[in-house]
Amino acid sequence: MSQRPYVIDVMISAKAIAARIEELCEEIQKEFGDTDKLVVVGLLRGSFVFIADLVRELDLPIEVDFLEASSYGDAMESSREVRILKDLRGAIEGRDVLVVEDIVDTGHTLNHVTHLLQSRNPARLKSIALLDKPSRREVDFRSDWVGFEIPDEFVVGYGIDYAQRNRNLPHIGKVRFTGEG
Ligand code: 5GP
Ligand code: MG
Ligand code: MG
Repeated sequence: MSQRPYVIDVMISAKAIAARIEELCEEIQKEFGDTDKLVVVGLLRGSFVFIADLVRELDLPIEVDFLEASSYGDAMESSREVRILKDLRGAIEGRDVLVVEDIVDTGHTLNHVTHLLQSRNPARLKSIALLDKPSRREVDFRSDWVGFEIPDEFVVGYGIDYAQRNRNLPHIGKVRFTGEG
């Protein structure tokens, strides 16, 4: 992607994210309190920071696995056609599964992934997304837990990239273009 000059305005601070994760984990523990093993599935790559913070706050017996679905690539628009680029290592039949996503936007990605995983007959399948842009939804999908509902802005940081950059910001920021590229 050609780099038009941009700045990043803070939208959600690292402190606010940490506080919200504590709340979410209390709810997740209520739901999965009886599990003998929860498989926490991170969707690569955007969820890698979120899943790292989430599992360290979860007081449950867990395993971690990852799945990579095709996404924006380096563009800012959803491709709508979801492909699995990297599948899970482990089987999930009869297991409790929590899918962890960075953002639900049009809804195509999580809708596709949860249908795919449901077809493998897990005992329980739930999903959590750090961010949700409800105004952008194109398919009828709702994540079981959402960290923050946000307006239709392009965001980066806390694992989320713009053309592979800015994943290492500790907060969620909003991209604001400052001139012509
Ligand atoms: P959906 O299939 O719901 O339209 O798209 C979900 C994926 O689109 C997210 O996992 C994320 O990778 C990407 N996405 C959606 N909104 C944003 C955004 O504001 N910034 C970035 N970097 N990616 C986004
Ligand atoms: Mg993603
Ligand atoms: Mg991306």
